[in-house]
Amino acid sequence: MNPYPALGVRRVINADARLTRLGGSCMPAPVLDAMRAAACQYVDMFELQQAVGERIATLTHNEAACVTTGAAAGLFLSTLACITGPDPTAVARMPVRDGLRHEVLLQRSQEFAYLPAIPLAGATLTRIGSEPEMHPAELEAAINDETAAVLFVAGAHMAPGALPLDEVVDIAHARGVPVIVDAAAQLPPPENFWHFTRDLGADLAIFSGGKDLQGPQASGIVVGRPDLVDACRMHAAPHARLARPMKVGKEEMLGVLAAVEWYLALDHTARIAGFERTVAQWIDAFNAVPGLHAEREFPNEAGQPMPRCRVTLDAALGLSADAAVARLWDGDPRIAVKTSGEHGLSLTPDTLAHSDEADIVQQRVIDLVRASA
Ligand SMILES: *Cc1c(COP(=O)(O)O)cnc(C)c1O
Repeated sequence: MNPYPALGVRRVINADARLTRLGGSCMPAPVLDAMRAAACQYVDMFELQQAVGERIATLTHNEAACVTTGAAAGLFLSTLACITGPDPTAVARMPVRDGLRHEVLLQRSQEFAYLPAIPLAGATLTRIGSEPEMHPAELEAAINDETAAVLFVAGAHMAPGALPLDEVVDIAHARGVPVIVDAAAQLPPPENFWHFTRDLGADLAIFSGGKDLQGPQASGIVVGRPDLVDACRMHAAPHARLARPMKVGKEEMLGVLAAVEWYLALDHTARIAGFERTVAQWIDAFNAVPGLHAEREFPNEAGQPMPRCRVTLDAALGLSADAAVARLWDGDPRIAVKTSGEHGLSLTPDTLAHSDEADIVQQRVIDLVRASA
């Protein structure tokens, strides 16, 4: 049964990205089955969070892990954990941070949208370095007695010039300061589950459950150092502490665990080859239409190693990218795509949910152009 028509809510074909405002992702059957099974029994939630964390840690080759309500919540919890450590008195006192290190450093070139989670956790966010290039000495000089953590935002889509993670880790660790990596959208490849922590030495890494992992939308994972992961758990529900408003249900815990198992077993090479075929199909179809020029983009806007199709709308069409996006969105079903400059659209294959959607997107773009020509 489809519950949406009765509510007057239109279907969206997502050729844009795994976005919270579009509902995250569509969960595969093993995740849905795990959530349904989880829903039908009471458990001790402390025991469950511990057990699921241990299982995810083993699967992802990390020492410890915990489940959150998303990557933004992971940023919030990781920040709190770096301020208090696993000290029950400090945890209970937050957001009063007197006497605790409470400054989080961020390289200026890594500015991103989810930063409000840092001050929400009682930390002071300090932007450091000069754009476009950061020098090691700038990080060395910025670390002081108030520094609780250095935050690093991972991804091939980030502006160049940031100090690389291994250097950040060396400098921070020499001063006893932990490094948090926001890797919310850095899957695939699945190896990133352990790359930032086990391979590059970061103390904590954060992943979104509702992006390519295709777990519950309101889920995320923090992996890394056992004492800091313990501290994350101490701030969170079922404790009545600062992160209690971000409680994780038993359904999300088992859902994201099932998603990790499913994701690690996927043949990502074959999956990405499928996305390449969709992009090639789009390119051929669009290049056959007067007024359109299409090409392959790689990596995508989140820095993931997956292709997209960029379509340029000929100026003679008199159709701006904004107008095209608005018209695709206003149809039924709605079609979500990104603008790429004033005259371009970016179409994403990996977010499509059903096998007929690539053709529908293609036809709607072509119809739109024909109507303008
Ligand atoms: C998507 C994203 C987030 C937020 O993830 P949620 O799971 O939706 O909370 C945080 N950081 C980065 C870099 C992201 O791409």
